[in-house]
Amino acid sequence: MVKKFYITTAIDYPSARPHLGHAYEKTVSDSLARWHRLLGEEVFFSTGTDEHGLKIQRKARQAKKTPREFVDEMSAEFKKLCAEWDISFDRFIRTTDPDHEEVSRKIFQKVFDKGDIYLGEYEGLYCADCEQYYLEKDLVNGNCPVHGTKAELVREPSYFFRMSKYQKQLLDFFEKNPGFILPRARKAEIVNRVKEGLRDLSVSRTSFSWGIALPNDPKHFLYVWFDALINYVSAVDYPKGNFKKFWPADVHVIGTDISWFHCVIWPCMLFSAGIEPPKSVFIHGFIKLPSGKMSKSKGNVVDPLDLSTRFGSDSVRYFLLRDIPFGEDGVFEERLIVERHNSELANELGNLLNRVLVLIEKNCNGEIPQATTDSALAVKLNLKKIQTNMERFETHLALAEIMNFVKACNAYINEKEPWKLTGKQQKVLYSAADSLRMAAILLSPFVPRAAGKMLEQLGAGPFGKNDLQFNKLKAGTKTKRGEVLFKKTEK
Ligand SMILES: [Zn+2]
Repeated sequence: MVKKFYITTAIDYPSARPHLGHAYEKTVSDSLARWHRLLGEEVFFSTGTDEHGLKIQRKARQAKKTPREFVDEMSAEFKKLCAEWDISFDRFIRTTDPDHEEVSRKIFQKVFDKGDIYLGEYEGLYCADCEQYYLEKDLVNGNCPVHGTKAELVREPSYFFRMSKYQKQLLDFFEKNPGFILPRARKAEIVNRVKEGLRDLSVSRTSFSWGIALPNDPKHFLYVWFDALINYVSAVDYPKGNFKKFWPADVHVIGTDISWFHCVIWPCMLFSAGIEPPKSVFIHGFIKLPSGKMSKSKGNVVDPLDLSTRFGSDSVRYFLLRDIPFGEDGVFEERLIVERHNSELANELGNLLNRVLVLIEKNCNGEIPQATTDSALAVKLNLKKIQTNMERFETHLALAEIMNFVKACNAYINEKEPWKLTGKQQKVLYSAADSLRMAAILLSPFVPRAAGKMLEQLGAGPFGKNDLQFNKLKAGTKTKRGEVLFKKTEK
C-alpha cells in the first residue's frame, strides 16, 4: 500500500500582507511535502487563510471595503507568495470557502448533539486586535501584552464548549502519544498548563457578524479559532473523499504563539466530535533580526516578495532551510543569504555542474558516456542519514549532508583530473554526472527551480522514486548546458 502524508501549515490571518514568518512556515512545510512526494508517498499539503472575525471586519471598514472585498484582496497576496516561493500546496483553503463553512457548522452541530455546548455569559477583558480575552494577570497595566492597547471589559451571552470534560482524556492522549507535540522539549510546558485545569471555552460571539452563524442560534457567530481549526478537516472534504484517505493529518506545522490552540483546544474539539486527533503538531521558532523581533511599529518587517525578487526564491529558501534548525528561533540577515548563495549554491553546486558539463562536451561529444558510477564516490552519499534527518524535520542537517556530497564530487574531480586522463575519463565523468543527478533529486524539495534546471541540463528529465539510486543516468543522452545555475552576487 502506498504510504500517505498529510501536512498543513497554519492558515494565515490576512489582516495585513504576508511577512517573512508566513513564508518561512510555508517553505519548511513545502520542503517536507516535496520530500515525501519524492519518496513516492501520496501527499496532501494544505495552506490557506483564516478570514473571519471582528478584526477583519474592522480592517475592512478602515479600508472602506466590504469584508468580502478585503479578504479577497488580501488572500490573493498570500497566494502570490505561494506562487513566487514555489509552495506546492494541494489546497489553498479559505475559511470563507462555502464547503469549509458547511463543515464548520456540521462539526459544531456534532459537538452540540454530544451535549458539549451550553449557553452562558462571558465577561472578560478583551483585546479586539487579538480577538481574545485576557486574564487580568496577563495584561500589562491593563493593556494587551501584544498590542499595548487597553483591554475592554466585555460581557456577552456566549455558547461554551465543555472543554473541562476532556482534561483527563487529553492528558491520557499525551501520555500514549509522546510524539504528538514536537519538538519534544515543548511538551512539558503544555502538559503542565493542562494539569492546572482546563476551563470551558467560549465559542460564540454576538459582537461581530463577519463569520459563521451557529446552526442552533443564528444571532451567534462562531468564535474564529473554533472556525479556523476546522480547516484541517474541511481541506480534505470531511467526512468523505480525501478525508478518508488522508486523515489523521501527519503533522500540523505551526508557530509557538498558537500552540495552545493546536495542542489542546483542537484535540478536545475532535474528541467531542468523534474524530481522531492529528498525529503530531510541530512547533517552529520565530525569525528575528539581529536587533530583535520584527514588528510593524518598528518598521523593520521583511517583505518576503521583495526578498524573492532580489535574491531568487531558491536562494532564500535555501538559506532558511539550511541555516535555521527547525524548531528553534533563527536570525535573519541578508548577508547570510548572500553568503550561502555564493559559497554553496554558486561555488560548490553551480560550479560543479558547469565543470562537468564542459568536460563532457570537450571529451565525450556532449553525450553522457557509457560507464558505471565509481563506488568510491557513491559511498560518500549517506542517503540513510538524509532520510532520518527529514523524518525528524531536520532540514538543516539533511541539507548539510547533501552539500557534503556535492563537495565530495568537487574533490573527486580535482583528485582525478579527468582532463589529463586518457581511457579512464569516461568513468570519472559518468560518475560526476550521475552524482549530480542524485544531488539534484535530493535538492528538489529545497531548491526546486535549480534542481529542475540541473536535471534538464544533464538530460535526465523528470524522476520517480526509483531514480533515487546510482547508475540511472542513461548513456548516450545529450547534455544541454544552459545558463549558469547561480550567479555570484556582490550584495
Ligand atoms: Zn491584542
